Amino acid sequence: MKVAIIGGGVIGLCCAYYLDKEGYEVTVIDRNNITDGCSFGNMGYISPSHFIPLASPGIIRQGLKWMLSSSSPFYIKPRLNLDLIRWGMTFRKNANEKKLQENIQPLNNLLQLSRYLMNDLKNEFHDSFDMIEKGCWALYKNPGTGDHEKKLAEQAAKFGLKTEICDAQQVQEYEPEVEVNVEGGVLWLDDCHLNAVKFMQTLHEYLQNAGVKFLLGTEVKNFEKRNGSVTSIISNKGEVKADEIIIANGSWMPAVARMAGIDLLMQPGKGYSVVYEDLEKNLHHPSILVEDRTAMTPIDRWLRIGGTMELSGHNSTILPKRVLAIYTAVKRYFPTLEIPVPQPEQAWYGYRPVTPDGLPYIGRHSKFSNLIFAGGHAMLGVSAAAATGKLINEIIGRQPTSIDIFAFRPERFS
Ligand SMILES: Cc1cc2nc3c(=O)[nH]c(=O)nc-3n(C[C@H](O)[C@H](O)[C@H](O)COP(=O)(O)OP(=O)(O)OC[C@H]3O[C@@H](n4cnc5c(N)ncnc54)[C@H](O)[C@@H]3O)c2cc1C
Repeated sequence: MKVAIIGGGVIGLCCAYYLDKEGYEVTVIDRNNITDGCSFGNMGYISPSHFIPLASPGIIRQGLKWMLSSSSPFYIKPRLNLDLIRWGMTFRKNANEKKLQENIQPLNNLLQLSRYLMNDLKNEFHDSFDMIEKGCWALYKNPGTGDHEKKLAEQAAKFGLKTEICDAQQVQEYEPEVEVNVEGGVLWLDDCHLNAVKFMQTLHEYLQNAGVKFLLGTEVKNFEKRNGSVTSIISNKGEVKADEIIIANGSWMPAVARMAGIDLLMQPGKGYSVVYEDLEKNLHHPSILVEDRTAMTPIDRWLRIGGTMELSGHNSTILPKRVLAIYTAVKRYFPTLEIPVPQPEQAWYGYRPVTPDGLPYIGRHSKFSNLIFAGGHAMLGVSAAAATGKLINEIIGRQPTSIDIFAFRPERFS
């Protein structure tokens, strides 16, 4: 059976990995060449700790406060855009306690399954993507934030997640090379991190060698449909036929869904990152600077810092103040860390595919017998990629899925 995957990001490649292993004839179609994009410049966290979906109580109030500052970690470009308005209204409907309680469990299941599967990938690929299993810090400067983080750690214990709660001195002992200026931190021991570029390169190379066909520089433009199934994919380079079609094109998913007459709510959430090489002194653990929503990923002498969530559509504008804010946050927590101020042109940016409830779309669409969605993981695409690939393989094989996927159905906002 032939399977075509639209999108060669981390989700598309992980789908290809599991489908190829199962023996399907797999084709990955991407309009670029799989060397850059959201799956390359991210922080590389595998985060079972992130079981609270983005749409949660209090997030809108916090977001509105952030909107008042040009250097805050969140920004919505004011504009009259119907898709954004519909997305925002649906997000608001989902940011409540009842929905949160419904959505925590499925997200936790997805993240924990993925974390487990990442061990297999690490072994299979002989750790070619620098997966480091040391945990991840949630560092805070305010006692109030600390209380919130500790409560989260208690909640996490119910899911079997392990944490270590540290005061400032204990954090400093864990980070002997750099001065740490925090109130305390929670070390999430099940989290791990990897080099996102190497992860993508490893998967791409493996899949090419395994015989997966890559149609690069190939943009999907339309579908031919007949009797409730998609009979071919129309691209700028011609037609592609497949028995099953997976739409895994990240934040551009609504555009391709529309070609099939399907309305899907999603917004691109732009984020920035900056890389520093050859640092003499570096962190020993990846760190989320909670109040500033900034993340740091150290791998040996290499460091990536990143953050911000801009809902400004797909546009290539880099806002210098927000790049600078990432750097400033890092220096507030690690005042002696020797890294130069990043210039805007040094910043990488990518678009997180953000759904209005913080859960991805994983599953078939009832409008067609052979169309499947895999995407919308927002800030958790790498964390959930392996599980998503495995689930998609099970969906295509019409097998029982490893976890319940009802919460991820692509039609939940229709
Ligand atoms: C600053 C930042 C930090 C992040 N940190 C983390 C992290 O630490 N951990 C984590 O889990 N996640 C993180 N994320 C989120 C993660 O990067 C994304 O969730 C993930 O990369 C999305 O992968 P994807 O495969 O769905 O989409 P993408 O990587 O965007 O891939 C989609 C692909 O589809 C292709 N495409 C689009 N339209 C078409 C078309 N019409 N025809 C053909 N091809 C098409 C594109 O060219 C692209 O290659 C971060 C994101 C950002 C921005």
